[in-house]
Amino acid sequence: MKKVYLDNAATTQIRPEVINEMVKVMTEDYGNPSSTHSFGRSSKSILELSRKTIAKTLNATSQEIIFTSGATEANNWILKSAVEDLKVQRIITSKIEHHAVLHAVQVLESKHPINVDYVKIKPNGSIDINHLVELLSENIPTLVSLMHVNNEIGTVLDLEEIGKICKQYQAYFHSDTVQSIGKITFDLQQIPVDFLVASAHKFHGPKGAGFAFIRKGLLLNPLFFGGEQEKGLRPGTESVHNIVGMTKALELSYLLLEEEKNHISNLKKYTINQLNSSFEGIKINGNQDETFYNILNVCLPFSEAKTSMILFNLDMKGIAVSRGSACQSGSLKPSHVLAEILNEDDIKKPSLRISFSHFNTTEDIDALIEVLKGI
Ligand code: PLP
Repeated sequence: MKKVYLDNAATTQIRPEVINEMVKVMTEDYGNPSSTHSFGRSSKSILELSRKTIAKTLNATSQEIIFTSGATEANNWILKSAVEDLKVQRIITSKIEHHAVLHAVQVLESKHPINVDYVKIKPNGSIDINHLVELLSENIPTLVSLMHVNNEIGTVLDLEEIGKICKQYQAYFHSDTVQSIGKITFDLQQIPVDFLVASAHKFHGPKGAGFAFIRKGLLLNPLFFGGEQEKGLRPGTESVHNIVGMTKALELSYLLLEEEKNHISNLKKYTINQLNSSFEGIKINGNQDETFYNILNVCLPFSEAKTSMILFNLDMKGIAVSRGSACQSGSLKPSHVLAEILNEDDIKKPSLRISFSHFNTTEDIDALIEVLKGI
């Protein structure tokens, strides 16, 4: 059975070139970067070269890139430090953030005397900017935490616009850029953002590696304590092979960006056409014309009773997509993102998140449609 992977917003296949690079480092450069002998120095220079490469890709400086185990850690670190070190008294975020932000904010709210405000979300999944401005005009020391590309519905935030508004009201701005780094270019000299996070496994790199971008001059304390790695900001022996893999993956993503983006955008259009010609009443969740090019979240015109069957049937046929549905198979817990934007009828219907990569083909989409037709 040919397997079809259409869940690239969850994680991606590692590029072969990335694996080769990682194996080389694991084989030849196993020194601890903190050791002062030649083995250690060699690992250290690989690490610093990686940092420089990543910084250059985003038009940032090396000192602004701190390696972490991934985006959950980076998000937690930034949010906690904003409260404890930068002394913000309020966090403005939204109810459609990833749990790595939402749950971290909830814990901070329970432990610190801070306020949390949730900016309103429009039915198309975009942020209500007027409401954000209204909240910011209250003039409280604030961190705004809003994600760039939503991982469930693919809505896109204008980082430059939000960054400028935050600057105007002297609020810090953090954005979870996990779904966009490696898939869209960033010029961090132009975008007025204070903190960004990235995760290598979302752009065809290894799991367990990511980084935080911390704008120069913002002084944070570490999330946990130990050695002096990452200038004391992230203690623990650096995962050199993962960091090298992440760097190679990011370099390749940007080198091949236009070509791969075109291929993926065409696949998304093809999927929408095929769905529309096979079923009546397909609805795209989120802003139909402006969702990110590799994410498609659709509400299927099937009865509520078929919800749990769909993923099961797809999985049986070797097709991996993700549920974006109200009733997630095996549990009745609704998707917190769809719960914010769908009406009472649509939330009961099954929704699917189909997320693409350059490895996908039109045959993959045909296989998906065939199984859906069978249901
Ligand atoms: N933020 C977003 C938007 C994500 O999609 C994910 C991954 O699912 C994360 C954060 C967590 O990233 P990581 O797997 O690196 O901890």
